[in-house]
Amino acid sequence: MNIGILGAGQLGRMLALAGYPLGHRFRFLDPASHSPAGLLADHMAVNYADRSALDKFADGLDVITYEFENVPVDTARYLERLVPVYARPIALEKAQDRFVEKSFFCELGIPTPRFCSGWGNGQADEIGFPAVLKTCKLGYDGKGQKIIQSAVDLENETSDGHILEEFVSFDRELSIIGVRNKTGEIRFYPLVENHHRDGILRLSLAAGNVSDQLQQQAKEYLTRVMTALDYVGVLTVEFFEKDGHLLANEMAPRVHNSGHWTIEGALTSQFENHVRAVTDAPLGSTSPLGVCAMVNLVGTLPDVEFILKIEGAHLHLYDKAPRPRRKLGHITFVEKDLDTLQRKLDLLKEIADVF
Ligand code: AMP
Repeated sequence: MNIGILGAGQLGRMLALAGYPLGHRFRFLDPASHSPAGLLADHMAVNYADRSALDKFADGLDVITYEFENVPVDTARYLERLVPVYARPIALEKAQDRFVEKSFFCELGIPTPRFCSGWGNGQADEIGFPAVLKTCKLGYDGKGQKIIQSAVDLENETSDGHILEEFVSFDRELSIIGVRNKTGEIRFYPLVENHHRDGILRLSLAAGNVSDQLQQQAKEYLTRVMTALDYVGVLTVEFFEKDGHLLANEMAPRVHNSGHWTIEGALTSQFENHVRAVTDAPLGSTSPLGVCAMVNLVGTLPDVEFILKIEGAHLHLYDKAPRPRRKLGHITFVEKDLDTLQRKLDLLKEIADVF
C-alpha cells in the first residue's frame, strides 16, 4: 500500500523501516526541511496548513497516519475527506490539550493526579502545594512546566492556557503500549518502567518487574481509551505508580519512545503493528523475547565503536545533528536474564553518562 505519514521524525523513520519488508511504500509530510525519515522516502517539506500541498500529498495514497500528536486537527480532518486517516483525528483532539486529555481520562473512570484549569475560587487549595503548572498545549519532554511551591507563587502566574496539577511523589513511572485494529481486537505490550532526567526519557525497562495486578489495571485503562476513540493503530498511556495504584499522566496517539525496545525485543515491534493496524492486516504477537532495556542517546553521541563492541547492543541512529536535549538515537539490549541485562547497562554507563 501507499502510506502517508504526517511528521518525518525518528518515529516516522522507524515506521517506514518496519513497513518496507511488508511491501508498503511511504511518503512523508513535515515542515522541517531536514528530517530523519527523508533519507528513506519522499518528504514534502511544506506547511501543515497548505491545502494545495495536502492535496498533492494525499494523491495516490491508500491510508494516512501520523507520528506526531501536534499535527493540527484541521489538517487531519481535511485529509480524512480525501484518504482514510488512522488513528481518527478525534484522538489528536483529546491528546493535544492536557486539560481535555485529563478530563477525558476522568470521564472514562481512569484515575489521574488532581488537576484544575482555573484557580480563582480556591481550586488550587484542593490541588495542594507543591503543584505542577503546565501549559495545556505543546508541552513535551518537561517543556512548558514548572513547580509551584505556594499560593503566593501562583499569584504571579496566569491560568490562561494552563493546567495546575497535584505534584505526585510517585514510586515510579510506567507506560503501556497497545495496538487496536478496525474490528476492535487489542494486543498489549507489557508495562514498561521509565526513567527520566530533566524531563527527558533516558531509560525504559521491559524486564518483567511489574505485578500482574498493575498489568491488568493498565490494560483495562488502555482498553477504555481505545474503545472510546474507536482507535486504530498504536496508542500509549503514561502512568505514575503510587502505593500500588496507577494515575494516568498523559497519552500519545502514536508509536512511543518507551516502545523502541520492541524492535528487537518483541515478536512484532510497535512500528510493524501500527503499520499492520492502519493497513487492516492481522496484528502480530506482542510477546517479549527476553528482558529488555532501551537507552536514549540525548544531546551528544557517545563513541559508536565502543557501543558496538558491547555484545548484543542494538544501535539506532536517527540522522540528526547533535543539539542539547535532542534525541539522536537509542540502544536496545535483549537478554535472557536480569543479571546479564544489568551487566550490559553497566558497560554502557562506563562509556557514557547516558542514563
Ligand atoms: P509530562 O510532560 O507531563 O510527560 O511530564 C514530564 C515529566 O515530568 C514526567 O515524566 C514526570 O517525571 C514529571 N511530572 C509531570 N507531571 C508531574 C506531576 N503531576 N507530579 C510529579 N511529576 C510530574
